[in-house]
Order: sequence, then structure tokens, then C-alpha cells
Amino acid sequence: MDFKSYIRDVPDFPKPGILFKDITPLLQDYRALHSAADNLLKDLEVGGIDKVVGMESRGFIFGPMLADRLEAGFVPIRKPGKLPYKTLSESYDLEYGTDTLEIHVDGIAKGDRILIHDDVLATGGTALATTKLIEKLGGLIIQCNFLIELSFLKGREKIKSHEVKALITY
Ligand code: 5GP
Repeated sequence: MDFKSYIRDVPDFPKPGILFKDITPLLQDYRALHSAADNLLKDLEVGGIDKVVGMESRGFIFGPMLADRLEAGFVPIRKPGKLPYKTLSESYDLEYGTDTLEIHVDGIAKGDRILIHDDVLATGGTALATTKLIEKLGGLIIQCNFLIELSFLKGREKIKSHEVKALITY
């Protein structure tokens, strides 16, 4: 399937100068959605993953779909102040300023086998902060899994100690 034909370029969103990759045309089409989920899981086995970790907010779309297929749990990573229970936080640098991500302290148990999923790997800041949160809780990262990789932003280099898979590469 030509997955790229289901991704829409939106210029100047959310800020002038950014060409945003909009995944909603793919989500709207059952066959594309189903096939994308199948392909994201190609190298993984049911039983080989304990938890899928998804990042706010578009990691919450495929994350639970993948978790269900893998017979794994789902753990959300959220922006500060959104998770109700005790959290662990990790800050990371943006072009201007910093951002922070949080995870529930009991979201991952020591030795849990983890699949990280987000819709887009761009600069890799979000993914790197996520790997740090998981490792602080003792999780073993089996794969970092993305629908789209913007390879010109070199995010893969930030998480190069892990296996990285992307369905669509620009
Ligand atoms: P990074 O931290 O790798 O620079 O950015 C990745 C995060 O920003 C992901 O959580 C992703 O959802 C979001 N993101 C960055 N660029 C795009 C884009 O063009 N399209 C979409 N859908 N999300 C993006």
C-alpha cells in the first residue's frame, strides 16, 4: 500500500514555516488504518512486548491499537500536570525553550519489555525524553516505532542506541 498517498502536507501549521504532516486521511480510511497497524508490527511478536508507551497526543491513536494486537498494556506519556497519580518527569530542549514529559511511576515495572510508539519522529527530542523515562523505571526498550520519520531532522541519531522503525520516511 502506498501509505504516503494518505499523508497530507499542511503548510504553516501550527506555525509559519512548518510543513505539517497530517495523518488524519490515513486514519479516516479503514484499509489504510488497518494495514498501517499491521505493518508497524511486522518485526514484533505477540507476547514479546509487555507495554506499549505512547506520547501525547497522537501516540494515543495507534498506541492502544498496537497494544491490543500485541496483547500488551498501554502507558501514556503526557505533558506536565495531566497525569493524576505520582509522576516522573523529564525535560528536553526545544529550538526556543524547553518542554517536559511525564509518566506515572507505576506505569512500568523493572524488566518490562517496551515498545515506544509516536506518529512522527522529527528532531527526536520527544523520543529521547521518553526513552529516559522508561529506562529510569527499569524498562527494556525493544523498539521505537513511528508512522513517519522526517529523516532530514536526524531524530534517529538521538535514539541510535535503540532499534528504530518507521513506516514512512521523508
Ligand atoms: P520531535 O520531538 O521529534 O521534534 O517531535 C516529535 C513530536 O512532534 C511528535 O510527538 C509528533 O506528534 C509531533 N510532530 C512534529 N512534527 C510533526 C508533523 O509534521 N506532523 C505530526 N502529525 N506531528 C508532528
